[in-house]
Amino acid sequence: MREDRIYKILKNIGVVKEGHFVLRNGNHSDTYIEMKELFKEEEEFYTLMEALAKRAYRDANEYCFRMHFDFVVGPAEGGNVMANILAPMIESLTKKALGPLTNKACRVILTKKVDGGAFDISLEDSIWIKNKLGLLVEDVTTTGRSVLLVDELVHRHKGVPAGCAVIWNRGGVRRDQLGRNVPFISTLLTKKPTLFTPETCALCRSNVPIHTDYGAGAEFLALQKKYKP
Ligand SMILES: [Zn+2]
Repeated sequence: MREDRIYKILKNIGVVKEGHFVLRNGNHSDTYIEMKELFKEEEEFYTLMEALAKRAYRDANEYCFRMHFDFVVGPAEGGNVMANILAPMIESLTKKALGPLTNKACRVILTKKVDGGAFDISLEDSIWIKNKLGLLVEDVTTTGRSVLLVDELVHRHKGVPAGCAVIWNRGGVRRDQLGRNVPFISTLLTKKPTLFTPETCALCRSNVPIHTDYGAGAEFLALQKKYKP
């Protein structure tokens, strides 16, 4: 599926919002991404997950001659929602490639957030993933930090991150930024929204009103009011 078609789908269902936004990291942007909206739209979500599963599976074959993944894992909450849908899709692609009698099942590993922004998995899963091959998944990545934390988590329990699949790599993150040995990153969308620092924001300079319903717009305006000379 082509990038422009994917972008259009995301815009139509309200994932992509255009205007003037303050992001949580303080930067300003002409685009805001609310990936939660995708999870509510069953048809579009399945369509994109199917495209992502196929792409990841193709890349796994191409880059590491791999025909299966033992598990799918991603940062809570978006990564969990995706893993639930992607794992059975990966499993059925494996059965298609290796034959229906293959015992290569693909398990969903759910993560939960812990203090300090890291992630954790259940004790049972942490024992199970030793020496198993995992596909790391994420909805949107800007710096790759959340995926990197999941990569560390998998390594800590002696699992093997064997690839990464991201719906939207908006930060142009490279695979070597995602973990120690992630062999590939599959992505549906690489379009980069325009970003500004608050000091150099062209939209602020043109007095384009800041959206307060999304991101940190409301906080930014409140602070500005407080410190206005
Ligand atoms: Zn601005």
